[in-house]
Amino acid sequence: MATVSRVQLSTNFFLDEFTRSQIAARRGIDMSVCQGDVIYFNLRRLCRRVLQPLRDALGPTHISSGYRPPKLNRLIGGAPTSQHQYGQAADLVVTGHTPLEVATWLRDHVTGYDQLIHEYGAWVHVSVPSAALPEPARMERLTAIKVPRLIGKPRTVYMPGLIAIDDALARHNNHKEAA
Ligand SMILES: [Zn+2]
Repeated sequence: MATVSRVQLSTNFFLDEFTRSQIAARRGIDMSVCQGDVIYFNLRRLCRRVLQPLRDALGPTHISSGYRPPKLNRLIGGAPTSQHQYGQAADLVVTGHTPLEVATWLRDHVTGYDQLIHEYGAWVHVSVPSAALPEPARMERLTAIKVPRLIGKPRTVYMPGLIAIDDALARHNNHKEAA
């Protein structure tokens, strides 16, 4: 059996962890990333700056979504401007820690991230600025919640800060009553 060497992005992270997608496989979407491409450099920056320090401190970190080519991003309903499309973002969970604990750890120990989002109490989304542009890191922190609508699917609302989902929902409802 042929052995394919894995492309290493940092001590514990490898490129294939960011290019795995069942939907892409089913739809035949090309997930390959060339080592000279800006997507590769963005993923490497994400690993070295954010994910490896997290992994060193909290332990095994599972990437549930990394790089998404635009076609895949559309299929799964990602935001049209999603940084996943450029390899700048990852969704992750850490064994034995809640997403809020993980997001809070990143806020307190890492600098140079672009967006840090506690998403629905289910995972953490974190991104870095593109390696191709001199844009500053925003270090923006948000909590995403699903808010029911009278008709149709619940919509996503972003609340400032990293907070528990119950608190975010309560804050959202109070704000609505006050408005
Ligand atoms: Zn994400």
